Amino acid sequence: MVDKKSNKKSAKIKTLKTKMPEQAPEKRIKNFKEVALGYSEEDAVRESLRCLQCKNPRCIEGCPVDIDIKSFIDLISKRQFDKALEKIREKNSLPAICGRVCPQEDQCEKVCIVGIKNDPVAIGRLERFVADRGLCGEEKKSDKPGHLCAGDSGDLKHESKLSGAKIAVIGSGPAGLTCASELAKMGYKVTIFEALHKPGGVLVYGIPEFRLPKKILFDEVKFVENMGVEIELNTVVGKIFTIDDLLNNGYKSIFISTGAGLPYFMDIPGENLNYVYSANEYLTRSNLMKAYLFPEFDTPIANVNKIAVVGGGNVAMDSARTAKRLGAEHVYLIYRRSEVEMPARNEEIEHAKEEGIEFLLLTNPVEIIGKNGWVDKIRCIRMQLGEPDESGRRRPNPILGSEYDIDVEAVVMAIGQGPNPLLTSSVSDLKLTKRGNIEADPETGKTSKRGVFAGGDIVTGAATVILAMGAGKKSAMAIDDYIKTGKW
Ligand code: FAD
Repeated sequence: MVDKKSNKKSAKIKTLKTKMPEQAPEKRIKNFKEVALGYSEEDAVRESLRCLQCKNPRCIEGCPVDIDIKSFIDLISKRQFDKALEKIREKNSLPAICGRVCPQEDQCEKVCIVGIKNDPVAIGRLERFVADRGLCGEEKKSDKPGHLCAGDSGDLKHESKLSGAKIAVIGSGPAGLTCASELAKMGYKVTIFEALHKPGGVLVYGIPEFRLPKKILFDEVKFVENMGVEIELNTVVGKIFTIDDLLNNGYKSIFISTGAGLPYFMDIPGENLNYVYSANEYLTRSNLMKAYLFPEFDTPIANVNKIAVVGGGNVAMDSARTAKRLGAEHVYLIYRRSEVEMPARNEEIEHAKEEGIEFLLLTNPVEIIGKNGWVDKIRCIRMQLGEPDESGRRRPNPILGSEYDIDVEAVVMAIGQGPNPLLTSSVSDLKLTKRGNIEADPETGKTSKRGVFAGGDIVTGAATVILAMGAGKKSAMAIDDYIKTGKW
């Protein structure tokens, strides 16, 4: 409910969010630099004044990690930017990441009272502003007075209150990083075991530099490490050692957050041709293996003129926009439903359109046709929408006889990912769902195996950064309770 004072203020409120400057589309398709450039101090203060400071702020309920949004925005309006960052970090160790990639339009901003008649307050942009201001890379706090540097958070290290209580976290994506940082705050000795050679999960191998610069990610990971969390890279749990090995070697509890890294394919003819990629492989080649830094890194990747990306989510948008930047003249985004049903964030859809991605909607591939073993064409069929299916979206049905071919040299399948069975198949008493996800209590992350918790995409299936973080946080509290009480 809004109080009277807020109502008075709402009469004067600016209708639109304060705009965030961006690189122009014609310029940005030629580089991998960040598209959105962030607020200036003046922009941030102006936007903060649009907040009604509601007595019962709904935005906080809309945030899976309970950030005190009202208070941090109030601090921005008073130009107390460091305090605003401290306020956010009470609940969220990865604000520069969340400010960039969280679907705020479906969370905090969706329930913002200002949003009933106007644009909601730009909570994500404000979070990003405060977080970016606090990041100063290699510089030390002492070199940048007034800043709370992630790389200089010695004061954030917490002494172990429960000496000897070692906890293992498997996977360093947003769920694992959040669970680890929350446990470190409580004084636990946490080690994250990560299969890849860099930490961050999807944030490092999936989301491209132009949406989430690696420097920002690694600065926030450093912040978590400076809390006392250790990260062991190149460690595939389930191969090098097992969950039981960890439990037998002094780890009192384990949080599994191995994500949904196994790509799905369509099961149509031609998917084994050269230059048919899963989005995971394509984006990993570009991001983690640095094809985007050509010629400094000469990573093999399809540098072609015509490429098709199949799918309508964030992963598809990221793949299509990457292809454009790698030099493709025609990037076809093939999606079987209409734009209304697209699961990608609106902002990503708009950016993709501005960058010249060619949307082929109500279209579905039925075959990939090859020449000498390489992709030559993609055969598609036109679709029409019928009654809603179990997902609530209208079911796409093929229009018989409407097949047609499109000339392409490469295809990227971005139709979803599932759980990788590598770890789960190495644990005998861990209950899984039919799809291979770990069965876990949604409130605590407790699994069927004593002492073992799980959260993020490995439990829910492919979801969002903030939901994974929320799950990591809930499990951290449940692990603390388990260690203290011994109750399962
Ligand atoms: P992940 O981020 O997948 O991390 C899991 C980690 O576990 C990985 O580092 C993996 O290497 C490691 N691992 C796996 N198996 C093992 C093992 N056996 N031993 C050790 N380590 C292991 N969400 C948004 O909110 N906004 C977006 O804009 C957005 N864009 C996306 C773009 C792409 C291309 C993709 C793929 C996803 C996107 N998502 C987005 C979804 C979001 O990134 C995920 O929901 C989120 O990262 C899930 O977090 P997680 O910690 O559960 O798993």
